[in-house]
Amino acid sequence: MKYPQTKNFINGKLVECISNRFLNVVSPLDGTLLSTVPMSTKEDLNIAVSSAKKAFETWSKTSIKERVQIFYRYRTLLEKNMLELSKLVQEENGKTLDEARAEIEKSIELTEFACSLPQLVGGEILEVSKGVECRTDYYPIGVVASIVPFNFPSMVPNWTIPNAIALGNTMILKPSEIVPLSSLRIAELLKEAGLPDGVLNIVNGDKEMVEAICDHPGIEAVSFVGSTKVAKLVYARASSNFKRVLALGGAKNHLMVLPDAHVTMTATNVTASMSGCAGQRCMAASAMVAVGNVDSIIEQICIEAKKIIPGENLGSVISKAAKERIENYISEAEKQGAKILVDGRNTIVKGKENGYYVGPTVIDFVTPEMSVAKEEIFGPVISIIRAANVDEALAIENANPYGNAAAVFTQDGGMARYIIERASAGMIGVNIGVPVPREPFSFGGWNDSKFGVGDLTGKSSIEFWTKLKKTTTKWNAEAKTNWMS
Ligand code: NAD
Repeated sequence: MKYPQTKNFINGKLVECISNRFLNVVSPLDGTLLSTVPMSTKEDLNIAVSSAKKAFETWSKTSIKERVQIFYRYRTLLEKNMLELSKLVQEENGKTLDEARAEIEKSIELTEFACSLPQLVGGEILEVSKGVECRTDYYPIGVVASIVPFNFPSMVPNWTIPNAIALGNTMILKPSEIVPLSSLRIAELLKEAGLPDGVLNIVNGDKEMVEAICDHPGIEAVSFVGSTKVAKLVYARASSNFKRVLALGGAKNHLMVLPDAHVTMTATNVTASMSGCAGQRCMAASAMVAVGNVDSIIEQICIEAKKIIPGENLGSVISKAAKERIENYISEAEKQGAKILVDGRNTIVKGKENGYYVGPTVIDFVTPEMSVAKEEIFGPVISIIRAANVDEALAIENANPYGNAAAVFTQDGGMARYIIERASAGMIGVNIGVPVPREPFSFGGWNDSKFGVGDLTGKSSIEFWTKLKKTTTKWNAEAKTNWMS
């Protein structure tokens, strides 16, 4: 085993879990056993929540200016430890080192946003009646929980930790049991940056721990990022326990390519979007709607896809089960009459025979009723669906139940606007295949890609992580001018 057994992180210390149920943490790059991760019990969660509750008493009363000082130092530590952190993400998740590094860079950007929060959370003040003023102040909620998926072991925890904590909350983080190592390093670096004990606690576990979090009376709010199936369960369970919940789910992102689109720019963007992080991004292009004749672009996409070499500039998928699932989708589409233009099945990387690789795959003549067109595949696969015109393309995009991202590729601004207004997704790209809104803009989709109000990052996250107090004050007796004076 390359690393020691993973522990929980409670009250500033690595602690043994009460349970003796463990899972293996295996690198999907080559099958190396990295560690084991404990499946915590309700008792472990109780200890973590008590520690977070205790820490909240002091942390919530510390000024935000002071709180963000820790994130300035954390930001420096992320930068200083960039290579080590990137390698850890790569090992446990399987993405390429460049992709892992980009994830740490994004974590830095998220932390920088948290450092700017004092500039954004100054409340409002107004004399609402003669001698009477109203002011608003943002208050932290209390102990909050963040449940995260496997695909971004550093970035997604950093979607929630800096903002929620800088705003005065204390947190229970439940990492993905598949990639628990980066989360622990985040906790260690925050401790090094001066985060007081108990402000961030990590409780490892799986379904049982997620359910315990949703039920725990000491937790005020739950954020979740993962598949739609689980997002729905978490949203329903935690809100039925009267918690504030924001649950981000899966995706099926459609890129609409018009005949006037720039050929090489479109082809490189589509290919990068579908294959980056081996297609395991909630913002990945999964379906390309080819409007009219875009054959030259499809040809170029195939050329670009063939430049992507598994084990070199394409990482692994997360598990054997994921590889099998993705390959089954491709085979099923083929059986149903779709044409495989570039085939990533049966990929084996020399020297990494125990790794799980799927090559980039381009499938043409997919029809909307095929499962590759309807379901989230979460692999480096693009399904091309043909549409006669823009309205038909929009109907295909609108019919999918998800709504994370959509994109249009065209040189016609008016047509782009027409599509922006009609696409049913929360994040839209124009000639951009991965339209992640960068800070201070907020990340979050629509429809079955998000349950709850607000977004998880950027300015919209402030509402989620705080509660607003409205104070009305009068100090001096003034002429009675209306009912309030
Ligand atoms: P997942 O839903 O399987 O797991 C997410 C979390 O839920 C993990 O911490 C896991 O331990 C827990 N979990 C798993 N099954 C559970 C169950 N039955 N009951 C309670 N908890 C359970 O997701 P994943 O496979 O880790 O991640 C991939 C998914 O996440 C994809 O669907 C992807 O689109 C989505 N995702 C969405 C976003 C977004 O912003 N919308 C971002 C990243 C990933």
